[in-house]
Amino acid sequence: MTEFNPAAQGAALGRSITCFPTAQATSCNACGGVDIQVFYRVKDVPAHSCLMLSSREEALAFPRGDIELGFCGTCGFIGNVRFDPGLERYSAAYEETQAYSPRFLRFLDEVWDEQIARFELGPGMAALEIGCGKGEFLVGLCERSGCAGIGVDPAYRPERTRSSAGERMTFIRDFYGPKYAHLQADYVCCRHTLEHIGPVREFVRLVRETIGDRRHVNVFFELPDMERVLQQGAFWDIYYEHCTYFTRGSLARLFRSAAFDVRRLYKAYDGQYLMLEAQPAQRTTDAMLAQEDDLAAVSSLVARFERQVGERLQSLAAALARHRAQGHRLAIWGSGSKCVALVSALNLSSELVAVVDINPHKHGKFLAGSGLEIVSPDALRSLRPEVVLVMNSIYSDEIRHDLAARSLHPELIAL
Ligand SMILES: [Zn+2]
Repeated sequence: MTEFNPAAQGAALGRSITCFPTAQATSCNACGGVDIQVFYRVKDVPAHSCLMLSSREEALAFPRGDIELGFCGTCGFIGNVRFDPGLERYSAAYEETQAYSPRFLRFLDEVWDEQIARFELGPGMAALEIGCGKGEFLVGLCERSGCAGIGVDPAYRPERTRSSAGERMTFIRDFYGPKYAHLQADYVCCRHTLEHIGPVREFVRLVRETIGDRRHVNVFFELPDMERVLQQGAFWDIYYEHCTYFTRGSLARLFRSAAFDVRRLYKAYDGQYLMLEAQPAQRTTDAMLAQEDDLAAVSSLVARFERQVGERLQSLAAALARHRAQGHRLAIWGSGSKCVALVSALNLSSELVAVVDINPHKHGKFLAGSGLEIVSPDALRSLRPEVVLVMNSIYSDEIRHDLAARSLHPELIAL
């Protein structure tokens, strides 16, 4: 049984279909093209960054892998050509939710309202969410619209769902795969999941097969936008868990090749996320939207990315060295994947007084790779850092407010 579990995919699909196997890319996972140019390399990074580890030893000993980003000159897809699905360990210990942040909840509010209005979701309809995580998006969608919901994710935790729509919802704690192709829905969404999947072409084709001839179905995908990462040299947004990276053009090309008509392509969340809305078509479709025409622009961003990253690393290292020289204490706010990537790129583990997260499920757990313990914001009351590195600038106001509420006014360095 083929499942879109990166761990299962190597064995199930076999190397001939999994186009970016463990050794080296031979062909593009999105279009099958062979014009792959490797443009960025990071060695020996933790294979997971959102998995909660219960001891420092376990965190330090966590499996590592290499990243080599390959750019497909044919379709613009970017993938880690060294990705080894055998290193993946998705489970209920995977802690990806951002729903403890008011800023993130405001964003979710907007997405819920917009999706429900655009696709007229309501009673008698069903929504399917592939990769629903802890289920918060699906729960909100069902509560607000009155529709029924099916969520599929191995990291789902039933004890965290308390919902008035509970009776209309079904959760399947598993990886989505062909055995779920019978699931029928009027609306299919997949948020922050595609970037974890190696064989993206097979995955999007399976979504298309699941829909079959039910042509009224609307499809919504949300994932990180790689164009911004390339433009900003945001190396902390490249990590092992994400084996797959898209821009608007490459994402639209993949969907069109799998017999979807891409209706809308846009960015959200301060330009960090890429959103795609599509409907099933009878056959492959041609590019229609101006935003899809980005191959030449992305190709030149790729060409200067390594230099861009070098500049970002140097300026961050210089800023931190200035604080170190003054004996300042440094903390990081945000313990997710960006943090794991930054700590390893700048080798920060020995000089941090704390890694803070507002998600209580992360407190007392340890970061893969560095073995740093994640603590509650309250721990900063006694540690009193002079500098706090904010892992995502979109949370700066919220973090400044949370610090001030604890009578702390450190300098913030926001990425
Ligand atoms: Zn390609």
